[in-house]
Amino acid sequence: MPELPEVEVSRMGISPHVTGQTVTDIVVRNPKLRWPIPEEIDQIKGQVIRRVSRRAKYLMLETDAGYAIVHLGMSGSLRILPADTPPEKHDHVDLCLSSGEMLRYNDPRRFGAWLWQSGEGEHPVLGKLGPEPLGDGFTVDYLQGRAKGRRTAIKQFIMDNQVVVGVGNIYANESLFAAGIHPKREAGKVSYQRLALLVDEIKTVLAFAIEQGGTTLKDFKNADGKPGYFAQELQVYGKAGQPCPRCDTALSEAKIGQRTTVFCSHCQR
Ligand SMILES: [Zn+2]
Repeated sequence: MPELPEVEVSRMGISPHVTGQTVTDIVVRNPKLRWPIPEEIDQIKGQVIRRVSRRAKYLMLETDAGYAIVHLGMSGSLRILPADTPPEKHDHVDLCLSSGEMLRYNDPRRFGAWLWQSGEGEHPVLGKLGPEPLGDGFTVDYLQGRAKGRRTAIKQFIMDNQVVVGVGNIYANESLFAAGIHPKREAGKVSYQRLALLVDEIKTVLAFAIEQGGTTLKDFKNADGKPGYFAQELQVYGKAGQPCPRCDTALSEAKIGQRTTVFCSHCQR
């Protein structure tokens, strides 16, 4: 599943190819994604894409008439291809550009989305979202304010999009390990100092993943590849039973909120 770093790397990958381009056509082969693609998306035709921005895991293709919102869901990916490239299975949307290239959306499981917001208003899917983890609004003071009195497990708490966006399962596991915090500890009972460490580690693991993705993905014109997915150096995620990288104790596995959680019972308190 594309996590925030993959989405950010997708944004960086497509941005140079689509920014400043006029949309000459949009071809929707299958509108049945997570939500039906609205017919108003046709309003993007003839518009210049001014900027590609990101909020949580949503990408926004911004124009003077409004913006298209793209979500990669479980299995979506974006590629830049010559406009005459024949579609293959699961290629559901093409955004044709004045450059002669197109932005092609592929999504086998169809949990992704293409939406449209006219004007500058906020689309409902973007409402109620917590701050960006890499933004200035995500601070220890903010997190402590939200954690106060909360009995939720800290892992579930940081994965809540209303608390902070984009901390998916991989990054929750990794940042809690790096901060030495037990994933089941009640959010309201983690000290200020340890929350400060957690905020730092969340920023560090996400920034590092984006950097890794950015360096392995020099070009989004990869005809056979799956842009937006990249191998990462992980400490604990997917490594239950293997020795802890710090103390050699076998890493434990548990389910927290139905999500697989890997941690070191010795290093994480
Ligand atoms: Zn350990």
